[in-house]
Amino acid sequence: MAGSRTTDDAAPQPSGELTELRERVGRFIRTRVIPQEPVLDAGGPAAVAALQELHAHARADGLWALPLPAELGGGGLPFSAYAQLAEAEGASDHGPAALGSAPLLDVTMLARHAGSRIRERYLEPLVAGEIRTCYAMTEPDVPGTDPFLTGTRAEREVDGTWRITGRKWFTSGAATADLVTVLARTSGAPGDRGGLSLLLVPTDSPGFRIVRELPVLGAAGQYEIELDGVGVSGDHLIGAEGGALAIAGERLALGRTLRCLRWLGQAQRAFDLMCERAATRNGSRGPLAGHQLVQQHVFDALLALRTTRPLVHEAVALIAAGQDARTEVGLAKVAAARMLQQVTDSAIQVHGAAGLGPDTALPALFRGGRAARILDGPDELHITAVARRILRGYGPSVVTPG
Ligand SMILES: Cc1cc2nc3c(=O)[nH]c(=O)nc-3n(C[C@H](O)[C@H](O)[C@H](O)COP(=O)(O)OP(=O)(O)OC[C@H]3O[C@@H](n4cnc5c(N)ncnc54)[C@H](O)[C@@H]3O)c2cc1C
Repeated sequence: MAGSRTTDDAAPQPSGELTELRERVGRFIRTRVIPQEPVLDAGGPAAVAALQELHAHARADGLWALPLPAELGGGGLPFSAYAQLAEAEGASDHGPAALGSAPLLDVTMLARHAGSRIRERYLEPLVAGEIRTCYAMTEPDVPGTDPFLTGTRAEREVDGTWRITGRKWFTSGAATADLVTVLARTSGAPGDRGGLSLLLVPTDSPGFRIVRELPVLGAAGQYEIELDGVGVSGDHLIGAEGGALAIAGERLALGRTLRCLRWLGQAQRAFDLMCERAATRNGSRGPLAGHQLVQQHVFDALLALRTTRPLVHEAVALIAAGQDARTEVGLAKVAAARMLQQVTDSAIQVHGAAGLGPDTALPALFRGGRAARILDGPDELHITAVARRILRGYGPSVVTPG
């Protein structure tokens, strides 16, 4: 695809083996994952079977779980190297699951913060793709942007068991997950800044229930869940009691950066579709590409892609170096979400009605772009957090509360 070569030239260019690996990942996504997207999008048993088949192909091709630790059965690529492939892998929303990279966040969190029994029990099956996880922070009754108001509670019983009660929603992948990490209040009252903890809950525990599926702009995959006095033993506490927000912050920084890389891949795909359509659909005065207003879409989309990519890689570099990346992740997340929405919207516009119909991936890519501006914290949260951090450097008097 000529369009993809044009913008890829602006991406950081890894050398040697990594370039070859990136090409193989890209080929796997184009030839194996994208053709299966309609089945995977629909969910259900057919999607589970298709995913298992993709796992087998990924293993056979030496592409399985590339960023996960080698000692647990993964490919052992360091984050900075994996970041060079994540865009190609993320060109399909199903790419990370198909190639076994999806557990990266949970494996990182559990490897760093879980006790030895939990690590021994769950890490290898997670990397092998034998079990799946999900993450439940957001609740229906309080703003997700204000975790201090978390209503889910976990009480410790005399034998050390944690008994968890509450309701969460928009828990991605809950219906097929074996484990859910739950944010719960273990002390204090709603609104207190401390007292929040993370607990790992097997989804076959008595009292765990999927309440309903929550289609997002028609797409499956999100669920409302209930924990009705679910009991887990003391070693299912992840990290220190009351230490949830530090771990969640670490997880979100990595997670948001990964999403940005994947959104770049999805936007690139929409951009390529737009350019191909513009170049090949002919009116009486030639192809659509001859119209200046179509050229404007192409220019603006390319500009958005190329100005976002370096921002994302700035965040990658800081995270890989273990440095404070809050400002860079915030900038990258807002830029990448807006960019994905803009590029997919332009691609739909240039396709006309076909862009809204069932024959291209554009409706799904656009849906992803719209959701991107809300999930992992809405734009406003990142905008105000970054701006306040910057303004603090100019003196406390310019920072207003709220
Ligand atoms: C597709 C999808 C997948 C998701 N997956 C998960 C998941 O797996 N696990 C999970 O826990 N959650 C998940 N979520 C939930 C997501 O993280 C929350 O929706 C998000 O954090 C916002 O929380 P909220 O919906 O409660 O919005 P609220 O907190 O109610 O905010 C609503 C709106 O108010 C405005 N607002 C809020 N705070 C501010 C502020 N400080 N300044 C200015 N304006 C503000 C913004 O416009 C915001 O969009 C997912 C959401 C989506 C759409």
